[in-house]
Amino acid sequence: MISRNRRHKMTYHRRKICRFCADSNFVIDYKDPRTLRMFTTERGKIIPRRISGNCAKHQRMLTVAIKRARKIALLPYTTSTLR
Ligand SMILES: [Zn+2]
Repeated sequence: MISRNRRHKMTYHRRKICRFCADSNFVIDYKDPRTLRMFTTERGKIIPRRISGNCAKHQRMLTVAIKRARKIALLPYTTSTLR
């Protein structure tokens, strides 16, 4: 029998909704590091979709925005010094 650890598996219903879909005032803007930072870790990495709860569409837009923000130095690539 493989169904030994099944008791904790019932939490699958707490599906987060995408913040950008839920709130139209919440816009992805690469010029707005405060919003983007909510979706990056302390180290500046992008938080994966399954944790952030974003939908595919917005996660993709977010990734693009974060990358763009990094390019113009609004967000760090990582906190560890590369040079
Ligand atoms: Zn969305």
